Amino acid sequence: MSLGMLGAWRGMQPKRKQCARCGLYHIEKLEKCSHCGDLDENGLQKLFERKEEEHEGNASLARIFLLGSVIIAVLLLLSFTQ
Ligand SMILES: [Zn+2]
Repeated sequence: MSLGMLGAWRGMQPKRKQCARCGLYHIEKLEKCSHCGDLDENGLQKLFERKEEEHEGNASLARIFLLGSVIIAVLLLLSFTQ
């Protein structure tokens, strides 16, 4: 892909701005945030909790991958020494 095409593609994307309320990005043209615009304080709290859970899920997945690669490295090492 040439740089010109990339620039054109970027130009086609709607401008985004960060919502001051929920911190997520939404299309600038919209008056209301598409993430929290329809939520009351309760709903906003639930949104934050869900974000937190997703983050935790990713962290534990990363740990599992790390553990897996350590085990593989140890097995490789053992197979070399024997
Ligand atoms: Zn928002």
